[in-house]
Amino acid sequence: MGIPLAQAARIGTYLVKQHLSGRKRYPLVLMLEPLFRCNLACAGCGKIDYPNEILNQRLSVDDCMAAIDECGAPVVSIAGGEPLLHKDMPEIVRGYLARKKFVILCTNALLLTKKIDDYKPSPAFTWSIHLDGDQIMHDKSVCQDGVYDKAVEAIRLAKSKGFQVSINCTLFNDADPERTARFFDEVTAMGLDGITVSPGYAYERAPDQQHFLNRTKTKELFRGILARGRGGKAWPFTQSRMFLNFLAGNEAYACTPWGNPTRTVFGWQKPCYLLGEGYAKTFKELMDDTEWDKYGVGNYEKCADCMVHSGFEASAVKHMVTNPIKALAVTLGGIRTEGAMAKDIPLDNQRRADYVFSGHVEKKLAEIREANPKASRRIEIRHGGGQGPAQPTVAAE
Ligand code: SF4
Repeated sequence: MGIPLAQAARIGTYLVKQHLSGRKRYPLVLMLEPLFRCNLACAGCGKIDYPNEILNQRLSVDDCMAAIDECGAPVVSIAGGEPLLHKDMPEIVRGYLARKKFVILCTNALLLTKKIDDYKPSPAFTWSIHLDGDQIMHDKSVCQDGVYDKAVEAIRLAKSKGFQVSINCTLFNDADPERTARFFDEVTAMGLDGITVSPGYAYERAPDQQHFLNRTKTKELFRGILARGRGGKAWPFTQSRMFLNFLAGNEAYACTPWGNPTRTVFGWQKPCYLLGEGYAKTFKELMDDTEWDKYGVGNYEKCADCMVHSGFEASAVKHMVTNPIKALAVTLGGIRTEGAMAKDIPLDNQRRADYVFSGHVEKKLAEIREANPKASRRIEIRHGGGQGPAQPTVAAE
């Protein structure tokens, strides 16, 4: 079972309440990025080349609590950057647990062995360890040898201390279905509580633009993987079966970007976790002022290849709530991996991409410099201007 029963029941109750109240847009998972700084520099990541002044920004404990109080989502997924570099992370996790939220703490695990005793096991708390495949696949994905071994060591340690542990696995166009299926077998045998899998999103700032999947390749890859695992029933996926069914090309969903609202050091990110096309000061402003119809597959060029869980899991869950019998059939019968695929959303009328990243970075830098001119000057001197790519650092704060 990928999702603990108590968690499934509480989230299910929340969903049914939202559905019955007729609320059109509601959040499911708060995506919190309390810092962008990381101790790795993965080729497929869009966040590693912010200037140092931005990488040095942190959301405070109060900012993090205000984010969940504002949006009310039942689940918080804390990512980054590397969350374990944030000195207040244990307090942030405790604050969310005290608010009865389910907390997923995503980490590359490099600091987990050192920091694990700052946290306590709880049914509402899960470590989500970044692992993009077997040793060769993962070390290649994170551009550093030895990271897979450290992650596996951390998984075993966390399990031995009674924590819930899942992995989050991002797949690119060089993923091989057979090898990925064997990897899922291996991590399942480690006693993992869950696997979250998603195709990589083509971040416009990622250094490696050659290995992102397009929609057709994504569906073929997931059919190939799921066919080797009894339609997905062999592995403890944390995602809904309907989302996996979508990845296998059996459903064509429009995305639900407000399902995973994202709070970063810039503010509430418009429109979603993957695209930073603008920022709102409050959750209400995000929900009320984002022009949602301008985004999504078929509406916007940058969305054309997206099938990422942060955009489509909420669509799948909504479909599940309104079609429980179909969802049950997929869950019990496994995901279909042969036959015709669902007709996808046409791309003929999508608007051209806007490239707005630099403007947001300049604006944020100006705010930081105005708030603390002396600190910014020190960074400029140390880093030769503060505009160059960040260097990975393994030092925790
Ligand atoms: S398809 Fe939706 S979730 Fe994906 S990038 Fe576009 S707006 Fe975001």
